[in-house]
Amino acid sequence: MTQQKIFGLIGYPVKHSLSPLMHNAAFSLLKIKAKYKLFPLEERQLKDFLSGLKKQCICGLNVTIPHKEKVLEYIKSTSEGVRVIRAANTLVIDKAGKIKAHNTDCLGFARHIKELKVKPKKVAIIGAGGAAKAVIFALIQLKAQEICIYDIDKFRALGLVKRFNQLFPGCRVRTVARIDELVLSDKDLLINASPVGMKDADPLLIEPRNLHKDLFVYDLIYNPAETKLLKAAKVAGCGFSNGLGMLLYQGVEALEIWLKPKKAPVEVMRAALLKGMKKL
Ligand code: NAP
Repeated sequence: MTQQKIFGLIGYPVKHSLSPLMHNAAFSLLKIKAKYKLFPLEERQLKDFLSGLKKQCICGLNVTIPHKEKVLEYIKSTSEGVRVIRAANTLVIDKAGKIKAHNTDCLGFARHIKELKVKPKKVAIIGAGGAAKAVIFALIQLKAQEICIYDIDKFRALGLVKRFNQLFPGCRVRTVARIDELVLSDKDLLINASPVGMKDADPLLIEPRNLHKDLFVYDLIYNPAETKLLKAAKVAGCGFSNGLGMLLYQGVEALEIWLKPKKAPVEVMRAALLKGMKKL
């Protein structure tokens, strides 16, 4: 009898994650004897947990806040995306127990942007944290020419600017010190990669009059499904999307890394996510 393979999510907290729904639906459709579990882990437990993966039959993991950067201290083998972004959200464990780290946040964002038929050239981004790094790397792969970042922490934004300009001189990455300096008139894509918009009381950071029809507005937030920013984008006649597609495709890309060469059942995973969203 073949042993059940274990996959899962490490982070803290993880209890509200939609990932088990989407991955277990995929395993069931593909008739794979596997289960996706949640592993709430504190930082002090990380090292021991990672050294015992083979014993626990764990073949693949997703990594979420706050361990996306910390896990790299224990893993030698990394994808190019991980080396650029310096954060991992997907681990694959081979038969010998060796771990390789990937970043499917950037792959997932790129796949969703392509699905939306958005061809980003000039981009404005709010937020310069972990998700923004993945998004910027994806935008560079998608041949964006100019990226302007605003973050409440200007030194964090400056750090990103320095790093990406050094690594990818073909794309001009710069930052502005104030949100009202984030010019949108010449941009074709505005991305919210900050948590602003998750709470009802959060402000709308952009002046609605600066939104225009040639601008696509992408909010990485998917809960709520329509933030104040997306509502304003709709009124202004912009194309717009929340981040549920990015969540879906980071999961699809992770599954395809774990089950290579199998393809992920995208529509089953999407349906599982949408069902889970209704219960949030
Ligand atoms: P993070 O690492 O905490 O980065 C967020 C950044 O936004 C921080 O630098 C933060 O600064 C900054 N910020 C906070 N308030 C701001 C404001 N008013 N104006 C400008 N910048 C502000 O978080 P993250 O992991 O990058 O996640 C960011 C968002 O993306 C979250 O809502 C998360 O849920 C979402 N996300 C979605 C997906 C998806 O698949 N759809 C994937 C990853 C993340 P401070 O730290 O100083 O507050």
